[in-house]
Amino acid sequence: MQKRKLVIIGSGPAAYTAAIYAARANLAPLVYEGFYAGPAGGQLMTTTEVENFPGFPEGVMGPELMDKMRKQAERFSTTFVTEDVGSIDLGVHPFVVKGSSTNVQAEAVIIATGASAKRLDIPGAGDGEFWQKGVTACAVCDGAAPIFRNKSLFVIGGGDSAIEEAIFLTKFGSKVYIVHRRDQFRASKIMSERALQHPKIEVLWNHTIAKIEGEQVVGSVILEDLLSKKQTKMEAAGVFFAIGHNPNTAFLQGQLELDATGYIKVKLGTTLTSREGVFAAGDVQDKVYRQAVSAAGSGCMAALDAERWLSSRE
Ligand SMILES: Cc1cc2nc3c(=O)[nH]c(=O)nc-3n(C[C@H](O)[C@H](O)[C@H](O)COP(=O)(O)OP(=O)(O)OC[C@H]3O[C@@H](n4cnc5c(N)ncnc54)[C@H](O)[C@@H]3O)c2cc1C
Repeated sequence: MQKRKLVIIGSGPAAYTAAIYAARANLAPLVYEGFYAGPAGGQLMTTTEVENFPGFPEGVMGPELMDKMRKQAERFSTTFVTEDVGSIDLGVHPFVVKGSSTNVQAEAVIIATGASAKRLDIPGAGDGEFWQKGVTACAVCDGAAPIFRNKSLFVIGGGDSAIEEAIFLTKFGSKVYIVHRRDQFRASKIMSERALQHPKIEVLWNHTIAKIEGEQVVGSVILEDLLSKKQTKMEAAGVFFAIGHNPNTAFLQGQLELDATGYIKVKLGTTLTSREGVFAAGDVQDKVYRQAVSAAGSGCMAALDAERWLSSRE
């Protein structure tokens, strides 16, 4: 079985940044970049323009940014394996990382498998329909786009993050509707009150969006009252899913400490997990910031933490 000092699992900004730093520290990292688990390159492969990643004053297309990061990692002799990691054995050392057709022994592992935004299967919201043409899952990423300015925007959800997204969107939209299928929020009292008192926010209780319509981009939504089943059409420029994320941690099979929602727990201010020699970076351990630049920053931290841990053992 091939043996490596460092194996990185994942392929978004966190994994590629970790690879750049680790490769430059002569750790010759091997990156399992995924295949079916998600697009190799991570979540930004599914978006168009990224306008908030520093260094690109004109903006950059998500796939182009990821391609550049991957090439930069490759330049410093990173090896890529385009396979999913199905499982990992952290009960032995070196750890054993199991891909779909390869197994590798690793002295240290960085997990950067990200998270996937939950989406609802609403007609009009899918890839090839209005996804990324007015339908999105990240207000901070996309809210400032010109198509949303001074228009009616709809946020689906009822937790703290739905309210945070709605409040953020009030800077851009003329009106922000929170569409919630229940008659009260799951969000904290303080957040709920902020939403209810906001002059630009209206909550549509017991409602769902039955369909998203438009021409090139979103133009309207068909709302359904879940109690009366009555449908109403309303003008809309944006639909924002805020119903949570799924961290990609199933392959760990309980070998690392996770929080109640499945995110990897790290020691505050570091990338150290509950297992020595295993580090976590990016959205798989971050349910607060969830941005490309914060993922890249923690990828750098994970490589430095791993390098220091490996050197301390030599
Ligand atoms: C539509 C959209 C638009 C966005 N726009 C912006 C934006 O404009 N600006 C911004 O800063 N952020 C944006 N974000 C958020 C940003 O994409 C994420 O915060 C960032 O990509 C997280 O990076 P990450 O490295 O943690 O992993 P991810 O990007 O989540 O990538 C992880 C990847 O790891 C791989 N993987 C998963 N499981 C396995 C496995 N078992 N084995 C091997 N590989 C695996 C998959 O390929 C997965 O895609 C956007 C997100 C979305 C969904």
